[in-house]
Amino acid sequence: MEEKKLIGVDLGGTSIKFAIMTMKGEIQQRWSEETNILDEGSHIIPDIIDSINHHLEMYAMVAADFAGIGMGSPGSVDRDKGTVIGAYNLNWKQTVYPKRDIEAATKIPFYIDNDANVAALGERWQGAGDNQPDVAFVTLGTGIGGGIIANNELLHGVAGSAGEIGHITVDPQGYLCTCGKRGCLETIASATGVVRVARDMAEEYAGDSQLKKQLDDGDEISAKIVFDLAKTGDPLAVRVIDRVCFYLGLAVANIGNTLNPSYIVIGGGVSAAGEFLLQQVQKYFAEFTFPNVRDNTKLRLATLGNVAGVIGAASLVIENNKD
Ligand SMILES: [Zn+2]
Repeated sequence: MEEKKLIGVDLGGTSIKFAIMTMKGEIQQRWSEETNILDEGSHIIPDIIDSINHHLEMYAMVAADFAGIGMGSPGSVDRDKGTVIGAYNLNWKQTVYPKRDIEAATKIPFYIDNDANVAALGERWQGAGDNQPDVAFVTLGTGIGGGIIANNELLHGVAGSAGEIGHITVDPQGYLCTCGKRGCLETIASATGVVRVARDMAEEYAGDSQLKKQLDDGDEISAKIVFDLAKTGDPLAVRVIDRVCFYLGLAVANIGNTLNPSYIVIGGGVSAAGEFLLQQVQKYFAEFTFPNVRDNTKLRLATLGNVAGVIGAASLVIENNKD
């Protein structure tokens, strides 16, 4: 019998990415669609179904060729029921039923998990995680997400919130987070957090700095601009990035102290700052870990970029049929 294939779906607020993959993790076909969030996101599931069915027809494939469809979704995911609630960037305020609807329309078994967990599975399987049994993943984007694989299992916790690295408290008196508490890592080390830190530090900074000038002029500032200025040695930008890396290093060190994974993989838009970011986080990671973790848990940059999601989504099919 020929080996069955996998379908991965990475559902995001601006695009839906799809891939057909082998069981070994090779991508055979890849495509994407724009996410239509109009009408309370009611077009999204029908669009996913149409896109899958259309592409299977185009490639002359049928449901029986597939072991399953895996999908990563924003919002609160109930993996057993296959439902999603509160995915506000999709306009999904009510409970949505991707598993019920997609299985009915494609006749292919369907599995779902949240987008950060799925990206963690992808990086662990085909990216920087080297397919090791113990890998932690943190994604630095507009917010901060995370996923933890321990003993070959993706951790979910009792209510699905394991691996919410973005809400680790790093500064009890810090900024108010969207989750309602103060000092979450996300308020400092996400793309929006970096800009917030830059604005605050600029107020107290009296020296000469291009970053300060741009902020005082009311220019649009992004995390990338702050990193780029820090790389050129701008004194305020250097201090901002040092503060961000201190908190990020503190958080990943405590993940290391708790889980002692082979790798803590750092991905997402902010990680485009690359080695420059990694080296500074590494410094604080070394300071805040105890020797056995310091020596055996390594920090790494993610390698898959934005295909981590579809690859990890497809791997949900394998994860859910392991034993
Ligand atoms: Zn929070």
